[in-house]
Amino acid sequence: MFRKRDAFKRPIPYVLLSAFVAIGVLLTSNPAVLGFSIWDVLPSAVQVVQLSTMSDEQEVAIGSQINDRLLENDIALYQNSQVVEYVDRIGQRLVRVSDRADLPFTFQVVEDDRVNAFATLGGFVYVHTGLLREAENEAELAGVIAHEIGHIVERHAIEKMKQAAIAQGLLNAAGIDADALVQIGYELAIRRPSSRSAEYEADDVGLALIESAGYAPIGMVNFYHKLTSQPSAPEFLSTHPNTNDRIVRLQRQIDLATATRGDGLDREAYRRQIQSLL
Ligand SMILES: [Zn+2]
Repeated sequence: MFRKRDAFKRPIPYVLLSAFVAIGVLLTSNPAVLGFSIWDVLPSAVQVVQLSTMSDEQEVAIGSQINDRLLENDIALYQNSQVVEYVDRIGQRLVRVSDRADLPFTFQVVEDDRVNAFATLGGFVYVHTGLLREAENEAELAGVIAHEIGHIVERHAIEKMKQAAIAQGLLNAAGIDADALVQIGYELAIRRPSSRSAEYEADDVGLALIESAGYAPIGMVNFYHKLTSQPSAPEFLSTHPNTNDRIVRLQRQIDLATATRGDGLDREAYRRQIQSLL
C-alpha cells in the first residue's frame, strides 16, 4: 500500500484526492455497498449459525472475520518472521497432541508491551511481544500458549458468544445471524471477560498438552508464579483471575519429582529465538 505513494509525487487536485479517500472509507466500512459481501465467499449455511452445532469450517470463518476486525481496529502484528514462525512451531506442536488436531490454528504475535495472550475461536491465538519478553524459556511460553489452545479446544468463546446472544435477544430457533455473531465475538475479544471455571478448564487442558508434547511442566507453574510476584499485575492475570488458586491447582496436578524433565528449559536457546525482541 505504501509503495503507491510514489505515484503521487505530482500535486493531485484536491477533489480527486478526496474521492480516493471516500472510496477507501467505503471499502473498509461496508464492502456490500460495492456490490459484494464478505459472506458471498462462505457457505450459505454460515449466514445463520447454530451455535450448538457449529462446524469447524464455520468456526474458522467466524474467527477469521473477528481477526480481520481486530487487525483493522485494535491490534498491530509483530512481523519478524523468525519470531512468528517460532511461536507457530510451538503452537502447532501443542495442537498436534490436542483433541482438535484437525482444526487449522493461526498463531499471531501482537506488537504490545503488555504481558498478555488471548484466543478467540476457530484456532486464532494471539501472543503479545511483552509476554514473549517476559517468559524465561520456551517451556514457560508454551504453558501460556497451551492455556489459550485449551480455551479453543473447550469452545469457551462459543459458549460466551451464546450467552451474549441470548442476553441481547439475538438468538432464535434458526440460530443467529452471522454478522451479529461476528460483532458479539469481536466485542468479547476486546473485553475478554473471563470465568473461573473456564480458566481452570483451560489450565487443565493446557497442562495436559504441555505434558503430551514433551515440555517440562514446571515451566507453566513457574511462569504463573513469576507473574503473581510482580508489583503490578500483568494483563494476562487481570483478564485471567484467581491466579493463586490456579497455581495451587497446577502444582497439585504436577508430579514435582519429574516436573523439570522435558523440553524447553534452555534459557539461551530461547533468547536466540526471540533475539529481535531483546
Ligand atoms: Zn484464559
